Amino acid sequence: MAQIIHSMKQITFLLFVLCSHLATAQNNLRVEPMNWWVGMKNPKVQLLLQGDNLRGATVTSSQAGIQIQQVHNADSPNYLFVDLLIKANAKPGNYTLRVQKGGKLLHKIEYPLLARKSNSALRPGFNSSDVIYLVTPDRFSNGDSSNDVVKGMKETSLNRAAMYDRHGGDLQGLINHLDYMKDMGFTAIWNMPVQVNDQAKESYHGYSITDYYQVDPRFGTNALFKEFSEKAQAKGIKTIMDVVINHCGDGHWWMKDLPFKNWLNMDGKFVSTSHRRETAQDPHASAFDKKLETDGWFVPTMPDLNTRNPFLGTYLIQNAIWWVEYASLGGLRIDTWPYSWKEYSAAWAKALMTEYPNFNLVGEEWSSNPIIPAYYQKGQKNRDGFVGELPSLMDFPLQSAVSEAMRGNDKDWGQGLNKVYEVLANDLVYANPGNLVIFGDNHDMSRFYTQVKHDVDLLKMGMTILLTTRGIPQIFYGTEVLMANPNSSEHGEIRGDMYGGWAGDTKSAFTAQGLSPAEKDAQAFFKKILNWRKSNEVIHTGKLLHFGPADGVYVYFRYSAKGKVMVIVNKNTSSVDLALDRFAEILPAGAKVRDVLSSTPSAFVLGKTLQVPAKKAWVLEVE
Ligand code: CA
Repeated sequence: MAQIIHSMKQITFLLFVLCSHLATAQNNLRVEPMNWWVGMKNPKVQLLLQGDNLRGATVTSSQAGIQIQQVHNADSPNYLFVDLLIKANAKPGNYTLRVQKGGKLLHKIEYPLLARKSNSALRPGFNSSDVIYLVTPDRFSNGDSSNDVVKGMKETSLNRAAMYDRHGGDLQGLINHLDYMKDMGFTAIWNMPVQVNDQAKESYHGYSITDYYQVDPRFGTNALFKEFSEKAQAKGIKTIMDVVINHCGDGHWWMKDLPFKNWLNMDGKFVSTSHRRETAQDPHASAFDKKLETDGWFVPTMPDLNTRNPFLGTYLIQNAIWWVEYASLGGLRIDTWPYSWKEYSAAWAKALMTEYPNFNLVGEEWSSNPIIPAYYQKGQKNRDGFVGELPSLMDFPLQSAVSEAMRGNDKDWGQGLNKVYEVLANDLVYANPGNLVIFGDNHDMSRFYTQVKHDVDLLKMGMTILLTTRGIPQIFYGTEVLMANPNSSEHGEIRGDMYGGWAGDTKSAFTAQGLSPAEKDAQAFFKKILNWRKSNEVIHTGKLLHFGPADGVYVYFRYSAKGKVMVIVNKNTSSVDLALDRFAEILPAGAKVRDVLSSTPSAFVLGKTLQVPAKKAWVLEVE
């Protein structure tokens, strides 16, 4: 039976592929976006039409509700860009567009304008009440082995033993484990990109997009991605799509026939970026260095997109909005934020936030100098007049501080826990530090457990800081069961297969089968603190008050009218008698506290000193 179902799935899938190809072959016309919606704040959409010899064609529609404002030719004769105005009185439905040339009808397009879901514009984005689970779809779980290898795609093999090959994980695998994520206490998922990456090799990671409007068939279909997002949402989990606006993959369909000569940076040839991201805000930067940073390519297989071309700029904005609307997203994470031309990326973010004012976007700016990410944040008042529009950035400065704090010696001046204290003391540089995404590790760096030299106590201390200080925590899949990369810092090893994600795995994070006592203990720790955090508003939005670390102990409070939480981090290998008079401004004498993470949380009254256990982050609710 299973075999028959399996074959049926395969046939259905093949039919799907065949039909989508037939559609292209019959009409010989690509139309993107494939649909739009009525009632968007921006009433305009620009269609990309690609087909043989379209130059000079007219595009008309006689239907009320829409108006074709302008048709633009491209450098290539095989493209048209059509400015469509959707009027306020437009009704959902198919609208007929006629593409004609020399009195001959070349194409008849039935263009769907859909109704929006209620409250679509006001959807909430991820925020500090959330904890984000970062997953690598190819490496999380193989829920559908029929899509492991897809005929016709450039990378044909599946090999779990090779760290840069496809391992077969997919959207069905993510859907299958939504309950696990919910039970653990995660309230948002950021999945690495799922759009088509038809690249010759290393296509598993998703950052070499070759079709912006289609999910890679090895992950599933657009419809399955939508299903994944909606099912997650039904369980209280927001989905955060990973988008790439700086570059595409060199296998992208438009690489064979670029719409415009200036579609790519550096005249379409590989010149490496300098990675000098500080050029964006450096008052002394040369034009040469600024250009090399934004126009240089990441790697030879990732052509750098020239978003100064207004058609490409609009294309990428519409693509992001299309996915938000189509798949009911709860946020976007934007790859390589400072590698795009900054005026464009700000306009991109502004367009998204204008459509969805309560939404959230987080950009990757990998720098441990907080001045650099702060420069891009919405609300920031920059002295050079640049207006950043991005609500959130990845807090790499705090990531490196927490990591160094756990590894460093607290007896050395400025080292150990002082690192965390000093980075948070810089929060004045941010327009909104509470909206930064904070993390111990991600898919591009050594796993946190490896960073802390496989010391479970240090892992728990570091993670407790991240789960109780200001910001929006993000945890990389597998950290909860002590996944590590002891052999190398190769990305392919860091993005290891989640325990239990494949049929036949002898070890499973989902069932606890085969987990060591330490792994079970770590998982229980995460489950406890995540679920506690979920309903604790003071951790989401309360103020942070911290005291300079002394003798290897860092103490801080989160507080608001709703409550007060005291966190004590003791890195010493022995217990410490902590004198409490230093905290009198926030901690009244004789306060009653409750150890919320203990298996038997009981309240006790504080005296003049408190004995803090060795190598522990203690979370105490002050009653
Ligand atoms: Ca699969």
